[in-house]
Parts: sequence; C-alpha cells; structure tokens
Amino acid sequence: MLEFDSPDFLRLDDLLADEERLSRDAVRDFVSKDFLPLVQEHVRKDGSFPMQLVPRMAELGLFGANLQGYGCAGMNNVAYGLVMQELERGDSGLRSFASVQGGLVMYPIHGYGSQAQKERWLPRLAAGTAIGCFGLTEPDFGSHASGLRTRAEKKGSKWVLNGTKRWITNGSVADVAIVWARAGETLRGFLVERGTRGFEARDIKGKLSLRASVTSELFLSDVEVSEDESLLPGVSGMKGPLSCLTQARYGIAWGALGAAMACYDEALRYAKDRIVQGGPLAGKQIVQQKLVAMLTEITKGQLLALRLGRLKDEGKLHHAMVSMAKMNNVDVALRIAREARDLLGANGIVDDYASMRHMVNLETVRTYEGTHDIHTLILGEHITGMRAL
Ligand SMILES: Cc1cc2nc3c(=O)[nH]c(=O)nc-3n(C[C@H](O)[C@H](O)[C@H](O)COP(=O)(O)OP(=O)(O)OC[C@H]3O[C@@H](n4cnc5c(N)ncnc54)[C@H](O)[C@@H]3O)c2cc1C
Repeated sequence: MLEFDSPDFLRLDDLLADEERLSRDAVRDFVSKDFLPLVQEHVRKDGSFPMQLVPRMAELGLFGANLQGYGCAGMNNVAYGLVMQELERGDSGLRSFASVQGGLVMYPIHGYGSQAQKERWLPRLAAGTAIGCFGLTEPDFGSHASGLRTRAEKKGSKWVLNGTKRWITNGSVADVAIVWARAGETLRGFLVERGTRGFEARDIKGKLSLRASVTSELFLSDVEVSEDESLLPGVSGMKGPLSCLTQARYGIAWGALGAAMACYDEALRYAKDRIVQGGPLAGKQIVQQKLVAMLTEITKGQLLALRLGRLKDEGKLHHAMVSMAKMNNVDVALRIAREARDLLGANGIVDDYASMRHMVNLETVRTYEGTHDIHTLILGEHITGMRAL
C-alpha cells in the first residue's frame, strides 16, 4: 500500500503551528491505514463510499472542522486546509464527503439557521450520526445556478417545494438536504429531511470520475415542510449558496494539492524503481524535467494555499482570491496527475496505482464548485470591473 512521502521543498512545515501539524498528521495516518486499503473496492463498485469510516472521521473532528461550538473541532483555517489536503491524498471522494458535510451543510446551518435548527442538526452532523447534502445544481442550471427553477410556495405556516436537483453528492445517504429554491423574487434555503413525503433521491450510475462517492438526483414533488423546522431564516438570495461555495472552494484549493502530492510521490518512487535501457527511469533527463515541474507547481500551490489560509484566519479573504486558488491548484493537480499516469506507462492504467484514479477524479473537481472557466471569469470581472459576455 502506498506510503506517503511529503514534498515540502520550501520547508513550509516550519511555518505551521504544532496543532496544525498534529491535525494534518492524524488525518494522514487515518487515510493511509483506514481509507486506502478500501478505496479500490469502492471505486470498482461505482458510486459507493465506505460509510463504516464515518464514525472515525467524526472522532478526528473532520466534519465542520473549522466551525465553533456544537461539537465541532474549531480548528483554524490552515489546519482545516491541511485536513482537506490529506483527505484528498486519499481520494477526491473522501475529501468531497467531508467538504459537503462541513462547508456546504453545517456551515449554512451554523451561519443562517435558527437556534433550534442549529441545536437539532449540528451536533449530529459533527458526530457523523446524521449525513447532509447540498442541493443547488439542477439538470438545466449548473454554472448559472441563479436561474434555478425549484420553487418554494408559502401556504400558511408551511412551505411547498417542487423541483429537481442533479449531481448532488451524498444525496441518497443524506438524512437532511439543504435545498435552494426560488421563493417569490428571491432564493431561500430549506432543510428537507429524508423520508418527507414527495422527496426522493436516486443515484447517478456510470460515473467515470469520483466513483468512491455517492452522487444523486433529488426529486421534490409537493414536498410540504414547516417554516420553523425547514426555512433557514438568516439568508436570502444567491449570497446563501455562494457563501457556502466559498467555504468549500477554499477546501478544494488545499485538497487538490493532496491529490497532486500523491501522484508526485507515486511517479517519483516508480521512476526510481523502473529500469529502462539499463538504468532507472529517474536517471533520464526528460523524466527529471517532468518530476521537477511537478514539484515546482506543488510548491507554488502550497504557498498559495497557506497564504489564503492565513488571510482567512485574519478575516481578510476575498472570494476572488479563493477563485484564483481553486482554479490554479486544481489545474496544476490535474496536469500532474496526467504526467504521473504517463510516467507509469502501462502500469499507470490499472487501479493498483493511484495516479489515474486521481486524474479522473480531478476532472470532476475541475467542474464542480465553479468550473475552471467560471473562476477565470470571476477573476476577469474582478480585475477589469467588466462582466464578460
Ligand atoms: C461528481 C459531482 C458532484 C457534484 N456535487 C454537487 C453537489 O453536491 N451539489 C450541487 O449543487 N452540485 C454538485 N455538482 C454540480 C456541479 O457544481 C456542476 O456540475 C457545475 O457547477 C457545472 O455545471 P454544469 O455541469 O451544468 O455545466 P455547465 O454550466 O453547463 O458548463 C458546461 C461548460 O460550459 C462552460 N461555461 C458555462 N458558462 C459559461 C460562460 N458564461 N462562458 C464561458 N463558458 C461557460 C463551463 O465552464 C463548462 O466548461 C456536482 C458535480 C459532479 C460532477
């Protein structure tokens, strides 16, 4: 089984506090010992997550790790980022599970929920005894989710929801879904519990990417929910989902580096061992060039992520900074995964090796939480003041 080295060329470890290193190392250990022995089986099954690991993940404080109170670990944002990095060293599906639970479900309940909603859901979500999902995307609205068609109509003290959500991570295993719906002129968030009449989740099969993760479609047909229990009172409009996405995108900026590190480690080890033309692959100029480019991009990405984390802890983060980091770090990770797969030759196409699994996973990571091009447009608008057509 893969043992992790740690590319840390610029000794960024020296810039970390003890508790940040400890959080990272605990998750690295969990991923190596508990997750990696299971990943192949779940990837082969298609759309399956090792749910038996959820209690251990909760014990490690991985759900809502950077939130305060309600049983959350209250880590700073650098420790949280390092946790995301280590989870994605394992698999993007593993990091996605924690990102959705924390950044997309617990974060909005924590920030916008009523006191009763917080007390009801957050301790259970932190303990992993309840699972959540986040329903924003619809079959016809992904990048431009503000056009979404799911409707919420008020009837006395109740709301009635109708619509379809697609590509929803953890949809069919979730106890509670955050559903973003059009309510009159604005958007509102609703907590919809599993088992509510008219609410159904069906899994999407045949994915070639993020296979060790459950992805579902949610159907809401005259789903009646009470305002007190369901409506998130503290937010309306696109600010609600977008603020959640900024949290999750921040985690992705770190997570993608974890996948890149796993691929670099694997390629370096393979290149040292593989003998071609009487010597190790690693002794060839062109191979060294590829390995050097990988390490350089990982190091630049690490600097970007670390600076982003410190700014987030100081309350100085702008969402355009997160866009730059998500866009760049996922892009370089995907390129590194492709190069690593290539260096492994034919062996690189079998699932005994991790690089191709990371490569296909990163295709999803490039698309979700704002595609690469959408983040380019966000940054373009930020620096020019012009919304591109
Ligand atoms: C495995 C997986 C898990 C997911 N999990 C979730 C989840 O838990 N919850 C959730 O709500 N969503 C989830 N998503 C959905 C994801 O966020 C969307 O797929 C994403 O926002 C892109 O939307 P789309 O697929 O509709 O692509 P589109 O928006 O149709 O984009 C298609 C292409 O067009 C480009 N494009 C779009 N607009 C423009 C423009 N104006 N100018 C130039 N190019 C443009 C895009 O960059 C992309 O290349 C998930 C997706 C996947 C694959």
